[in-house]
Amino acid sequence: MSFSPSISGLTGPVAALADALGTTREGAFAQLGSVFMTRLPAAPLSAPYVVGFSPDTAALLGFDAALAQDPAFAEFFSGNTTRDWPAESMPYASVYSGHQFGVWAGQLGDGRALGLGEIEHDGTRYELQLKGAGRTPYSRMGDGRAVLRSSIREYLCSEAMHHLGIPTTRALCVIGSDQAVRREEVETAAVVTRVAPSFVRFGHFEHFYSNDRVDALQALADHVIERFYPQCKESDDPYLALLETAVQSTADLLAQWQAVGFCHGVMNTDNMSILGLTIDYGPFGFMDGFDASYICNHSDSQGRYAYRMQPQIAYWNLFCLAQGLLPLLGQQHDENVRGEQAVKDAQRVLEGFKDRFAPALERLMRAKLGLQTERAGDDALVNRLFEVMQANRADFTLTFRHLARVSKHDASGDSSVRDLFLDRAACDAWLNDYRARLSEETLDDAARAVAMNRVNPKYILRNHLAETAIRRAREKDFSEVERLATVLRRPFDEQPDYEAYAALPPDWASSLEVSCSS
Ligand code: AMP
Ligand code: MG
Repeated sequence: MSFSPSISGLTGPVAALADALGTTREGAFAQLGSVFMTRLPAAPLSAPYVVGFSPDTAALLGFDAALAQDPAFAEFFSGNTTRDWPAESMPYASVYSGHQFGVWAGQLGDGRALGLGEIEHDGTRYELQLKGAGRTPYSRMGDGRAVLRSSIREYLCSEAMHHLGIPTTRALCVIGSDQAVRREEVETAAVVTRVAPSFVRFGHFEHFYSNDRVDALQALADHVIERFYPQCKESDDPYLALLETAVQSTADLLAQWQAVGFCHGVMNTDNMSILGLTIDYGPFGFMDGFDASYICNHSDSQGRYAYRMQPQIAYWNLFCLAQGLLPLLGQQHDENVRGEQAVKDAQRVLEGFKDRFAPALERLMRAKLGLQTERAGDDALVNRLFEVMQANRADFTLTFRHLARVSKHDASGDSSVRDLFLDRAACDAWLNDYRARLSEETLDDAARAVAMNRVNPKYILRNHLAETAIRRAREKDFSEVERLATVLRRPFDEQPDYEAYAALPPDWASSLEVSCSS
């Protein structure tokens, strides 16, 4: 696209990226048109500066670390140049609706996010989105901004999740400013650039369903099928096939969340990706001490989104998606049975969640225990481990990581696991059962440890680590954000220089509270 003089004079990588951005490319979300979005520029952000930059995400787009060295970088990713963009390339805020905390909330939409268009690299197309770029027609009472604290958390966590092998939106950078933003306290504004193949949410479908816009609903579903799941077109009922892919990718995602002790915090239907990506990082949390009822979001007083609830909530959210798709379903059936048959079809596909989720989690848990074979008692073994962990609030991440040190022959390697449990006798009892189970495996200890260390991370984004990086960033020292991001890029590797980042949380971490305020 062509830019105004404010950046068109540039020849650096930012200008190249701007030229590569296309909102007019066929099949782009932005091409769906004005029923789906409103085009507008970002609100000005004063004196922007770079807080964090992910060279990994830049590489996805075909750029290297020189991108962030470009003097135009902060200005561009603050959104400040957008006011000069040509009308057909203007950023866009999309409209969606959703169920928040189990209640129909009506119209929501990108209240502080703006799509910039797509970049194609190595045959894959990625949409770029600024989060925190100012008010949109969907901001309701909000100011359209995001604070530095939550932007750093989103940046760090989306990159951490990706390197844990968990599907997620990515983050290219965080741009900060001294511009004040009022939350419980006065904070400062920041803008995160998110990158994903698509930001379409369950709530987008619910929106057009609830507004009785079957034409738009179909256009949206066709867009997702065409771009991401063309194989659905082979099915008798392509829209049912789309629902089925969402059921499967969501079930797989939830199994992965549960297996690393990740809690999303706000699993509203507008925060659920149609592609099964982790999206909208707010009051998320990785568990420290294991507690199945762990609630990471201080605003979630009922515990609707507690750790143990997440799979059920995902299933509930998929029902909302299915309802949204209903008008499109069953077109292959006879007119007079179509409605009834479509409901039956949807119910059957939704039932598939359980058939997908449970085995997926079992597979992950077996790998976490270093078991290559399947035995009837494996489930019970896992459940008893969780019971002992729960009773002792044993650290989720370290317990699994240290299990790799347990020997199948004797108790010589037990101590680092035992040390995480107050009730040593209960821990020993479980370890003896585990050892008995390991003796049925052919792998030797060393090979098993290697396999386990590839699936049990040593480094996760613990709340206190993020908090330390945020506190320094508020003092304008961004080095800890980058250091932490670097550590989290290799979550499964031993990193001797960064041992402290794998340690149990300090006492002060227990008083940290994370809420919906972001
Ligand atoms: P969330 O639960 O953070 O995903 O946000 C739910 C809805 O509120 C979405 O429509 C967001 O765009 C909107 N929203 C959240 N924070 C703000 C804000 N500061 N300004 C405008 N809209 C916001
Ligand atoms: Mg959201």
